[in-house]
Amino acid sequence: MTALEIFEKQVTGKKALVIFSGGQDSTTCLLWALKKYDEVRAISFSYGQRHSVELTLAADICSQLGVAQTVVDLSVQFAELNESALLTKGDDVNAETTRGLPASFVPNRNLIFLIYAHTFAQKIGFDTLVTGVCQTDYSGYPDCRYDFIQSAKATMNMASEVDIEIETPIMWLNKAETFMLADLCGDINIIINKTLTCYNAELTMNRYGYGCGKCNACLLRARGYDEYVEMVKCSE
Ligand code: ZN
Repeated sequence: MTALEIFEKQVTGKKALVIFSGGQDSTTCLLWALKKYDEVRAISFSYGQRHSVELTLAADICSQLGVAQTVVDLSVQFAELNESALLTKGDDVNAETTRGLPASFVPNRNLIFLIYAHTFAQKIGFDTLVTGVCQTDYSGYPDCRYDFIQSAKATMNMASEVDIEIETPIMWLNKAETFMLADLCGDINIIINKTLTCYNAELTMNRYGYGCGKCNACLLRARGYDEYVEMVKCSE
């Protein structure tokens, strides 16, 4: 699937709640939603992530784009009951768990975010959730896959007898195509200048945006950016 196909996709809903972390993927989803829906809001989560600067940047992006943002505080219990290198300072985010999953995987994070978003969408009368999960570059996180999202949607809609759509614009895009989608949505600059994807939350500016340049997230983003620049060159 290409960025252009996603950009041109017809959607059924009118009001979209975007699960928003302030990273490249969810910011691209927010830009996409702003092109597709009459009304857009963002929901963000404080879940004990090591780098709360993420939340500051997320709030900044929402205010720049004029999007109302709700921040849910899961920081105490979710982090206490969970185990992940993303929650514990000092752990190696590039390591693997005993089950062979990435140490940066946070068990049930996406499902819990979806449940909160689905709950809030019912309260405010929104018909669509948008989330930036991606199977193409899913980094070994099982809860970023298409089948999981379909299963979560079925379960949540069944639980509340509602019919809320879940859109995943970047599910089948690689990182280069994700840069391209933000470009098509008219705001590649906000991706480069404001979003943070780095596991070490380093605010050093590189050609592809903020990052340490060494963690898996930075390597993926840097490669994607370079491929995107090549794609743009070839289409000129
Ligand atoms: Zn990094």
